[in-house]
Amino acid sequence: NKQVLFKDYVNGYPKESDMVVTSNATIRLELPKNDGGLILSKNLYLSCDPYMRGRMKETFTGSYVPSFTPGSPLSGYGVAKVLDSTHPDFKKGDLISGPFTNWEEYSLITNAESLIKIQHTDVPLSYYTGIFGMPGMTAYVGFYEICSPKKGDIVFVSAASGAVGQLVGQFAKLHGCYVVGSAGSNEKVDLLKNKFGFDEAFNYKEEPDLNAALKRYCPDGIDIYFENVGGKMLDAVLLNMRVGGRIAVCGMISQYNIDQHEGIHNLVFLILKSIKMKGFLAPDYYHLYPKFLETVLPLIHEGKIKYVEDMVEGLENAPSALVGLFSGKNVGKQVVVVARQ
Ligand code: NDP
Repeated sequence: NKQVLFKDYVNGYPKESDMVVTSNATIRLELPKNDGGLILSKNLYLSCDPYMRGRMKETFTGSYVPSFTPGSPLSGYGVAKVLDSTHPDFKKGDLISGPFTNWEEYSLITNAESLIKIQHTDVPLSYYTGIFGMPGMTAYVGFYEICSPKKGDIVFVSAASGAVGQLVGQFAKLHGCYVVGSAGSNEKVDLLKNKFGFDEAFNYKEEPDLNAALKRYCPDGIDIYFENVGGKMLDAVLLNMRVGGRIAVCGMISQYNIDQHEGIHNLVFLILKSIKMKGFLAPDYYHLYPKFLETVLPLIHEGKIKYVEDMVEGLENAPSALVGLFSGKNVGKQVVVVARQ
């Protein structure tokens, strides 16, 4: 059973060498008959998510997700197929998705509490790590529940081509907003404008003055900022928000690998411009998942929403895929293909 093991707690930027791929573990590919509640799964798709950096710390402050255990496989959102089951709710052949899928080929699942059975298989299964998984819910909840969007609002999204950002921008367009995105390469900027339909987009790495860039791309200011990166971008955005603006604080990836978080200088504009700024965690809104599926499945089927994934093949490439999130290597949702059924 090939596995990706977590070596030890990490300081600074994570490296491939913080993980090790081994084939030493053995697993029996059948379950004892009378042992109720076990599931044997074949893992298909693994999700690489920025929050996993927090799990590489000894204590993941403020989160209810546990840290990784040194010497054990990493785990995260994933899609798997049931090979055998003594659990009453799952049977052989079921496709499942869960937040604690081990980074290995086969898993023995002893706690099925957080597993969901995949019902709609007329979309790519890997989408359950992205658009129909946690990033999709994050974009949906963040935009519709936190941003209070109105038709005509000017929306700015950072890390806009990623798993969450690409959807936020498309939801905002469907809502009748004017949408601007930032991303870290010209290839990503091209995707934003020509695939996802953003009105404007820019490569923040080529902009020495982010305030000037925002003034150029959002000359009338910003009503809604969907925050994915934090740091200097947030500071520049605060200077460009309109009165009564909303900021959904989804993530601050620029701060995840530094011990001393950057100070924000322009917070006074929250007062002067009556801005509402709210953080949120998508898992707190999972009661909205059925409504979300009902809304977004038809949009995918009708081609009104597009979803771009960055697939790497094989567990041996999983460490570099995860680490790549923090340098912007991924173009779209980063997925690791362990097996295609
Ligand atoms: P992405 O698919 O967007 O991948 C991460 C991207 O972040 C990279 O591709 C890179 O894009 C950008 N990035 C990396 N380092 C930096 C940096 N130092 N400064 C600016 N940008 C950087 O990831 P997700 O869509 O999965 O996540 C986006 C954000 O949403 C993250 O902050 C994440 O933590 C957060 N999140 C929050 C959730 C919640 O419940 N609140 C749930 C899910 C995600 P580029 O090339 O454009 O720089």
